Amino acid sequence: MSRHEHPLGISFEFFPPGTEAGRDKLIQVRDELAARQPRFFSVTYGAGGSTQARTREIVRQVSESGVSTAPHLSCIGSEKAQLRDLLAQYREEGVDSLVALRGDMPSGMASIGELRYANELVEFIRDETGNHFDIAVAAYPESHPQAPNLDRDVENFARKMKAGANMAITQYFFTADAYFHFVDKARALGVEQPIIPGIMPITNYTKLARFSDACGAEIPRWIRKQLESYGDDSEAIAAFGTDVVSRLCQRLLDGGAPGLHFYTLNQAAPVLKIVDNLSG
Ligand code: FAD
Repeated sequence: MSRHEHPLGISFEFFPPGTEAGRDKLIQVRDELAARQPRFFSVTYGAGGSTQARTREIVRQVSESGVSTAPHLSCIGSEKAQLRDLLAQYREEGVDSLVALRGDMPSGMASIGELRYANELVEFIRDETGNHFDIAVAAYPESHPQAPNLDRDVENFARKMKAGANMAITQYFFTADAYFHFVDKARALGVEQPIIPGIMPITNYTKLARFSDACGAEIPRWIRKQLESYGDDSEAIAAFGTDVVSRLCQRLLDGGAPGLHFYTLNQAAPVLKIVDNLSG
């Protein structure tokens, strides 16, 4: 945790860039965002181990900023021995927080592995490493796409919180009430840990629509219609996106959200425009 934290409790997520140019750019983005005193950074991890080495490398690079940096870790397709080694490496490298996920089966992968769900991964990390790591898990205010219904998904969510997670970060959403409804349901099942809204800036409609279909996040009709009307006018999309997402963030904070976690897509400007619009 940084010494003088931003008063709104913000954190930022990066993905491991595939190119040298992407890695160079990420250093600049990291520095711009570190200047805002985030609680932490996190770095995603491709399911199936494909980018595990890159996640570790980027975690090292990002944490040089002095901001605590949490690698994402997924268990699907992995054996316990591999996960044990990875946890030991992270400990050695001074990592003290993780985002623990089930992940998704990459196509063509034969075996699910030894841990089937994120609650089993959280238990495994606690069994292996005690309280060394702060653990965050994923939450889905609009329900995980594979869950039969929201009630069942919240029960599964509560199970992984009770397995020893310190906090949760949500999938992104554009309807504040979905978040408040989810938090109420989780609290009713005895979940007491912070549930931080995950925030996706709107910069590119086509990519956002594709990604939202895949992860089950809903783009409300009025937002979709407005974005479609801008065609490829990226300035208009960015201005509208900043306005919509800033209002969403402000509503979440005003309603008691204990911080905001931004999906930066490795860009500083869209996120900073939103942060600068907010008040505590
Ligand atoms: P789980 O919590 O295990 O849930 C998966 C499904 O199984 C849900 O439908 C749930 O209801 C159900 N379920 C859970 N536990 C049980 C149980 N014990 N018995 C029966 N059913 C159960 N993906 C990546 O590949 N890399 C990343 O870096 C990454 N980062 C992410 C960060 C955040 C904040 C979020 C919200 C998602 C991220 N994802 C990432 C996506 C995530 O891996 C997928 O959404 C995945 O499908 C589910 O992972 P999970 O940890 O939420 O799974």
